[in-house]
Formats: sequence, structure tokens, C-alpha cells
Amino acid sequence: MICIFLGAPGSGKGTQAKRVCASRGMKYIGTGEILRENVSSGTELGKRVKATLEAGHLVDDATMIEIIEEKIKNENSFLMDGFPRTVLQAEALENLFGKYEKSLDAVIFLDVSASEVTKRILGRFSCSSCGKDYNVHINDIKDERCPDCGDALLQRSDDTKDTVIERIEEYSRKTAPLKEFYEKKNILINVCGTGSVDDIFKRITEALDNKN
Ligand SMILES: [Zn+2]
Repeated sequence: MICIFLGAPGSGKGTQAKRVCASRGMKYIGTGEILRENVSSGTELGKRVKATLEAGHLVDDATMIEIIEEKIKNENSFLMDGFPRTVLQAEALENLFGKYEKSLDAVIFLDVSASEVTKRILGRFSCSSCGKDYNVHINDIKDERCPDCGDALLQRSDDTKDTVIERIEEYSRKTAPLKEFYEKKNILINVCGTGSVDDIFKRITEALDNKN
């Protein structure tokens, strides 16, 4: 099976995508992770994209398509998280699928309201000493202290309300035409992304089972 996962930052997309891969034996192709790994291990690609990522910009289409081609050409069962982000990338992906005789089975859109993702992202903290990540809406946090080591919890510096809202608005603006692109192909599945991690996973599993 070949799938694409779409969802706003904070929608829980990464967690669900990895779980789907584990349960179905699919390869997880997360472009965010691929880029970060290349930067930290200092590969040729990593050196090329480092400055772009550090400035908070998106890596150019040609580079992304090159990465994706390398990852998918020998895979028959995989899930893509973080790509495509634009209609142009989606069209390039169609060409790659044609070239390697593959076909896309489903595009899952994890639907979470802007106010809910904002709440989730603003609830994220990490420990100033041990580095563990927490979410005040999920974990039992008292007095903004780490439940493990008792040190102060800090909010991520780019997680202020204004920047979060901006990121989500940018995401919706860019994703709307992409959703439309896949809707027209009759391949888009909207999955409600609110509720427990287990409930959401169950919804996704049912949607994919119905697709077979
Ligand atoms: Zn700690």
C-alpha cells in the first residue's frame, strides 16, 4: 500500500503515521526526519539544506523530489509524511509514480481544528535538565516542574501563540489546494483527529481497510 499523510503541525500526524507503518509493515518516509538526519550527520545533502532549515524556510522542490525519488524507487509499501506540501510537488510525485510504475492508494487528512492544534502546541514543554518532552494536556504536570527530575519545564521558544497561529494559517493556506488536488482524484480520506491516540488510530485503520 502507498499512502500520504496530511495534517497541520500539532495534529498528531507523525505519531499516527508511524503507528500505521508499524501495524502494516509499511516503510515510514518522513521528510522532516530525513532532512534533520542529513544535517546532523553532515552529508552532502545536509550541507546543502542546513542554512535553509535553520532560517525556517522550506527546502526547494527540486531537492525534495530528488530525496523522494531515492527513497521510493525500490519501495512498494510506504507512507509519506511531510511530502508533498504543494500541488507542484504532488504533480512531480505523480510523475515519479508513473516512472516507477507505482500507484497511490490513499491520502489521509488528519482533521483537527485550528483552535485545537493551537492549544496542543502551546501545551508542549520540555525539561531544562533532562530534556524530556511533555504536554500539559496529556501529562500530569504540577507547578511547571519535570515529573521525572523536578527541574523547571520550558516552553519551546518558537511556540508562542502568535507564531503558532501563523504556522497553522500558513499550513491551511498551502494545504487547501493540495487537498483539492487529491479530492478530485477521489483518493482523499478525511479522518477526525480529535480524541484519544487509540481512537484516532482506529479511525485511520478502518478508513484504510475500506480502501482495500
Ligand atoms: Zn527532567
